[in-house]
Amino acid sequence: MDSPDFPAAIRIRDLAKVYAAQGSTPAKHALKGVSFDVPQGQIFGLLGPNGAGKSTLINILAGLVMKTSGSAEIWGFDINEHPRNAKRSIGIVPQEVVFDPFFTPLEVLENTAGFYGVPKAARRSLEILAEVHLGDKANAYARTLSGGMKRRLLIAKALVHQPPVIVLDEPTAGVDVELRRQLWELVSDLNAGGVTVVLTTHYLEEAEQLCDRIAIINHGELIANKPTRELVGMAREKVVVVTLDRDVADLPHHLDFIKAERAGERVIEVTYDKDRTTAGQILAQLQGEGFGIVDVSTREADLEDVFVSLTSAVRVEA
Ligand code: ADP
Ligand code: MG
Repeated sequence: MDSPDFPAAIRIRDLAKVYAAQGSTPAKHALKGVSFDVPQGQIFGLLGPNGAGKSTLINILAGLVMKTSGSAEIWGFDINEHPRNAKRSIGIVPQEVVFDPFFTPLEVLENTAGFYGVPKAARRSLEILAEVHLGDKANAYARTLSGGMKRRLLIAKALVHQPPVIVLDEPTAGVDVELRRQLWELVSDLNAGGVTVVLTTHYLEEAEQLCDRIAIINHGELIANKPTRELVGMAREKVVVVTLDRDVADLPHHLDFIKAERAGERVIEVTYDKDRTTAGQILAQLQGEGFGIVDVSTREADLEDVFVSLTSAVRVEA
């Protein structure tokens, strides 16, 4: 896929969505003015807890939910001004698996191709089924497919019109470890083939392993948007737990730790900035103060720590 001369695969500005009140259910401000770009060629993770607004955002891109205000462009096409071109530029894999159980995977893809107006000669249904490892199931009834196969068929369905951007909404929610790994591989392969991928997830590990860039959304607001490595780098704290050879009545002084706490009669837990010191230096300092060291273990902060610290900020519901 050639890169056109605009910077972003998806460009979102001040996007807001208010679901109207219904009966006793009050109006819900699901997106509160979100702006970000998805760079071309990347795997972009939209991370956030349940109810954060991820599906609302995806469904606006898919043309399934009407935005309240703001704008969105897909592959340079504004979703309001050029809805047909915008839709042709994106493949959406929804959160829920829905198929007519009496169609075969091949029929599902052919019907979808017809819906998009892909001419017969340009269709690649069998090729796409092979890509998602369903080549041998082309003519099986959809209802006989396993859960994992159904998910892969859903991905195949999003690929029939060969969009330059594909969006997966929680592709691995409720999926076992083996299938999750298969789906990750599939996403990586698609991306290696030039497709820009956006995926929403509430699994930190998934975002950390798979995504080039991660945006975090919480209560309808964007609270972070950084390359994955930078975001993980925000977790600079490390913890070293040291068991000493005698009781520590008082915490040792003269140590340039961030924080030292007693975790037992002979155990102290030291939290330090790994950019500024090392566990080795801390141990050397303790020995310098006359302590013998019996046991040591360390713990690394990860994306989860960053996530917790970013999402735990107190926010007032609108
Ligand atoms: P996520 O996908 O991150 O879990 P959603 O976008 O599904 O979040 O939901 C965001 C908020 O909007 C939630 O509070 C949810 O209850 C609400 N919401 C989602 N869809 C609707 C709808 N059709 N009508 C009213 N409220 C909705
Ligand atoms: Mg969702």
